[in-house]
Amino acid sequence: SLNYTPVDDIDDIVLSTKKAYQKRQWHLAETNNPKKEDLKLRLEQLQKLYYGLKDHEDEIVDALKKDFNRSRLETFVIELIPLYNHLLHLIENLPRHIEPEKISESGDLFKLSSVKVERISLGCVLVISPFNYPVLLALDPVAAAIGCGNSVILKPSEQTPAAAQVMEKILRAALSPSWVRVVHGAVNETSALIKNPNFDKIFYTGSTKVGRIVAQEAAKNLVPVTLELGGKSPVFITEHLAPAKLKAALSRVFFGAFSNSGQTCVAADYLLVHESHLAQVRKLTTEVLDEFWPTVDPSTINTSMIHEAAYKGAMEKLNATGGQKVRPTNVSDNLPNRCIAPTVVFDVGWDDSLMEAENFSPVLPVISYRDLNDVVAKVMQQHRNPLALYIFSQEQQEIDRIMTMIKSGGCVINDTMVHVIALDAPFGGIRESGQGNYHGFWSFSAFTHERTVVKQPFWIEFINGVRYPPFSARKLTL
Ligand code: NAD
Repeated sequence: SLNYTPVDDIDDIVLSTKKAYQKRQWHLAETNNPKKEDLKLRLEQLQKLYYGLKDHEDEIVDALKKDFNRSRLETFVIELIPLYNHLLHLIENLPRHIEPEKISESGDLFKLSSVKVERISLGCVLVISPFNYPVLLALDPVAAAIGCGNSVILKPSEQTPAAAQVMEKILRAALSPSWVRVVHGAVNETSALIKNPNFDKIFYTGSTKVGRIVAQEAAKNLVPVTLELGGKSPVFITEHLAPAKLKAALSRVFFGAFSNSGQTCVAADYLLVHESHLAQVRKLTTEVLDEFWPTVDPSTINTSMIHEAAYKGAMEKLNATGGQKVRPTNVSDNLPNRCIAPTVVFDVGWDDSLMEAENFSPVLPVISYRDLNDVVAKVMQQHRNPLALYIFSQEQQEIDRIMTMIKSGGCVINDTMVHVIALDAPFGGIRESGQGNYHGFWSFSAFTHERTVVKQPFWIEFINGVRYPPFSARKLTL
């Protein structure tokens, strides 16, 4: 079990991390070239993090197996490989990204001056992470925050205690505590953290419900937040998809619906199928499910629900639905603890319990539609701002129509989830699904302040007279 950090220690931990950040700034300020020294120190920490992860790879895999029965292969595909790629991309591009940006279009008044945007570190930042990708969604923002020159406090999810412990071990062994500290805990500990006025930024990934609490507490101290929240992300299979493409489309949808047993923020949550494809989609569903899960061996059904409450909640919805359930033909009834077999549910209505909140389980409800405008209006009414929007269509006008009306965090045409691993593209939600972006260059918008720096030469003083008093009528005519 996880030893929670005593609540009484939390303020001291925050203060000492903040002091460590300030001490580093004093050190930088006293060097001949603060920017160069800063880059060197940041890169050192990031490289140590990368090798620390590599050295403890097996322990991470074992931890996720222990926490929720995640298989080695799935952990690599959906957690470690994206994390390594992001980290290497950050290390490679950091020297370029931290260069101040020269602004050439500043207007006539600045023709003789220099105008730049410098991205400065914020200070001490708090990263709060969720259970579902416990390593990636903790260390990706931690790395980005370090790359941007900040000191960080990480509060990992208490629902994945083994992962939280391994991460602490890696961070302690590889990185300096002046750069990163870990606070363990649940609601009490996190509440103490988010109420602390000494943070310069809170980066929160988790549910929309808790995101609201974080935003409210942060607002009391005017601490800026990035919120990476939940989403009930729809998938459209429209009229204008050739029937020959349906099988590939369904494979991609099921990858998005069933990876990590559906416990993914950008999971394909529900499927909207044009009625002309429905019969074929039903037939192919069994075909694809049987190809993905061909044997009765329960060990091939991967990740389990994170805890008993999540398992019970998902099972209750499954039992309550009026729809028709389709599972892999050979699936065993004797599944490991808290595991649910991938299930596609046909003939679901908009008022079905599967259509209320995010499903966050390996259950994919399917609704068929006739009129695209009607179904788009329904999505907008029920789930205004999904985290992701997935459209399978081969007609651009139709794609444009859906994209114009449904404002989502991200969007993928003819696939699901892959936008998350695009290296230099922003990732984030909109309104209820989040605010602010990160990944690649966009991590700088999360973890730095953009400071405009104007440098004026003295020799232009002869033209400055016009802006000094007295404001004579003659000056106005110039
Ligand atoms: P959660 O909101 O329950 O927990 C996230 C973090 O908040 C944990 O560290 C937890 O300890 C803390 N927390 C929980 N209750 C709290 C409270 N009352 N006050 C303060 N802190 C509290 O989320 P979860 O169940 O771990 O993760 C699943 C959710 O996260 C889903 O809604 C999913 O869509 C979302 N998510 C979003 C993204 C994204 O990038 N947008 C990624 C992954 C998950």
